[in-house]
Amino acid sequence: SKGYRAERSLTLGDIFIAVKTTKRFHQSRMELLLDTWISRAREQTYVFTDEEDGALKRRMGDHAIFTNCSAEHSHLALSCKMAAEFDAFLASDRSWFCHLDDDNYLNPRALLKLLSSYSVTWDVYLGKPSLNRPIRASETLPNNQTKSVRFWFATGGAGFCISRKLACKMVPWASGRNFLTTSELIRLPDDCTVGYIIECKVGGQLVPNALFHSHLENLQLIPSSRLTQQVTLSYGVFENKLNVIELSGPFSPQEDPSRFRSLHCHLYPDTSWCLQAVGW
Ligand code: UDP
Ligand code: MN
Repeated sequence: SKGYRAERSLTLGDIFIAVKTTKRFHQSRMELLLDTWISRAREQTYVFTDEEDGALKRRMGDHAIFTNCSAEHSHLALSCKMAAEFDAFLASDRSWFCHLDDDNYLNPRALLKLLSSYSVTWDVYLGKPSLNRPIRASETLPNNQTKSVRFWFATGGAGFCISRKLACKMVPWASGRNFLTTSELIRLPDDCTVGYIIECKVGGQLVPNALFHSHLENLQLIPSSRLTQQVTLSYGVFENKLNVIELSGPFSPQEDPSRFRSLHCHLYPDTSWCLQAVGW
């Protein structure tokens, strides 16, 4: 029964992890994730992309989902993928939906610990607020007039999670073609649309959490001793400089520019290629 499900302790198998990617990042970004954290969360991770790829399919099997979304960085193409992720989650029997970009490192143990502190019977929307204030948007009404709306949203690039209880309430605005329609109402990206649906339509609220990180923040500021407790991390370029976490080894910045391989070795020192790296 539902009551029983809510009381037993959460396992990784209760979480649906969706990673958004695109054709041109299958090699440069997905291989890195598959070698590192996805290898420790294979059963719960699904990748949503825009083009068939034999290599990706060989590594992920039916967890590589080829959407019919176009390979563009347009609001529409990205919302199309978010809708596919959301629908696949709804069709699963898992109790949490977590979205990630393909430049995120996810620590499955830290995620499990975090989600375990919330009941799946609650409406929960967890992530890193994109701004330090609610975003303002103008919503198009059926009579073509507009209404000013304000809401918080979690940066997609830092990853976010939604409980099934809340996701079910989002269905009228988020499932199937509805997500695209909703996204067009406010003409903002997919992660904003998620926040808008939750805060303006469902009446939920973003719970800010400092363990989610995107490359829009200075990743060097996270103390090395705290890295293994973070739920998500990222890497990228900021003002022409590489923005990565500060970690001395075991790999050099040349061998491991994102620092994800080094982080993975700190979290899972028994990994075969980690043992070689430290010369054991
Ligand atoms: N992405 C996509 N289609 C595109 C470009 C990007 O699905 O045409 C995905 C990409 O794989 C990543 C996310 O969107 O998961 C964000 O892209 P990126 O990190 O390149 O840009 P950012 O928004 O972080 O600057
Ligand atoms: Mn990015």
